[in-house]
Amino acid sequence: MPVPIENAGLKCAVVSGAAGFVPSHMCDRLLAEGCKVIGLDNLLTGTERNIEHLRGNANFEFRLQDVTEPFEIPGTVDFVLHMASPASPKDYLEYPIETLDAGSLGTRRMLELARSKGAKFLLTSTSETYGDPTVHPQVETYWGNVNPVGPRSCYDESKRFAEALTMAYHRARGVRTGIARIFNTYGPRMKLNDGRVVPAFVDKALKGEPMTVFGDGSQTRSFCYVSDLVDGLYRLLLSNEVFPVNLGNPREMTILEFAKTIEQMTGSRGGVVHYALPEDDPKQRRPDITKARTLLGWNPAVTLEEGMRYTVEYFRQLPL
Ligand code: NAD
Ligand code: UDP
Repeated sequence: MPVPIENAGLKCAVVSGAAGFVPSHMCDRLLAEGCKVIGLDNLLTGTERNIEHLRGNANFEFRLQDVTEPFEIPGTVDFVLHMASPASPKDYLEYPIETLDAGSLGTRRMLELARSKGAKFLLTSTSETYGDPTVHPQVETYWGNVNPVGPRSCYDESKRFAEALTMAYHRARGVRTGIARIFNTYGPRMKLNDGRVVPAFVDKALKGEPMTVFGDGSQTRSFCYVSDLVDGLYRLLLSNEVFPVNLGNPREMTILEFAKTIEQMTGSRGGVVHYALPEDDPKQRRPDITKARTLLGWNPAVTLEEGMRYTVEYFRQLPL
């Protein structure tokens, strides 16, 4: 059910984090829908390679900009998407202060931009707001089980604060806002060395080395292909829903099962090697997507096997 941009009467989008993995795909989608896109990024964890194909596109403008610092965007803006934040555990453990700043100061500046332009605001929040969940699968009404002072708290609490700030701007300033709670997403343009399980396992498997399973591998995750996620984000952007909406693929598997899938797909004989489980690593994660299905008519369409084929192909082609 594509939602034509003409129906919304919206034309210009400002996307923070545009040189990152998911945001660069979102820029592609917005451009394909006929939008002009202004992408902001300080390249903390992203790379201009992700938007290289957009160089020369008259509807795309890139600005090297830290969104925690003051900035101005002239002219009309219809959409403001705040997607800037370190997102992999390795990245946010390396940049805890920057992560908290992106969720707090960065969210504030992007909300102010939306308010001053009368634009629709969308926040890319995360399933990490549920922490190590005691309710399974996770439904949006669950308030979560988060350690506020643990190593992951810089990310979890930054996003929880960002959600609270977004709701405050909606309630107190009348800004039209939306909040996506994104579950583990994968696909081309992920960094090979960002430490997340998809690139980490593919990297090892392609080298024929053992895949690095943390703990006994019984913890579960549910993996969503990036084009499905972007479709959900786009639908949410055009909807009137203010409260958080889960976006993710509900097919759940253990990390050991995921390693087996990669082994079969790549033909790797490296096997697995076990390392200690990181502190506060969530034991289970699966989105309840009833709300997105009902409200947005959204359903993930790409199977794990198909999505992983595209992803493995992407990593195979990367220069060594
Ligand atoms: P990413 O690291 O590839 O992209 C984030 C981008 O934000 C990077 O290009 C980085 O340079 C930029 N950035 C960081 N701080 C900035 C700042 N202060 N100013 C300007 N730019 C800044 O990560 P991603 O996986 O593409 O995640 C994108 C968004 O989606 C994040 O908000 C993340 O929290 C959210 N999310 C992603 C996933 C996932 O599985 N990929 C899951 C949940 C939520
Ligand atoms: N993981 C793993 N080996 C790796 C990287 C991650 O076993 O090399 C595990 C990690 O402990 C977690 C799951 O895979 O249980 C997903 O990790 P990721 O960093 O991709 O995302 P998270 O869901 O933890 O944010």
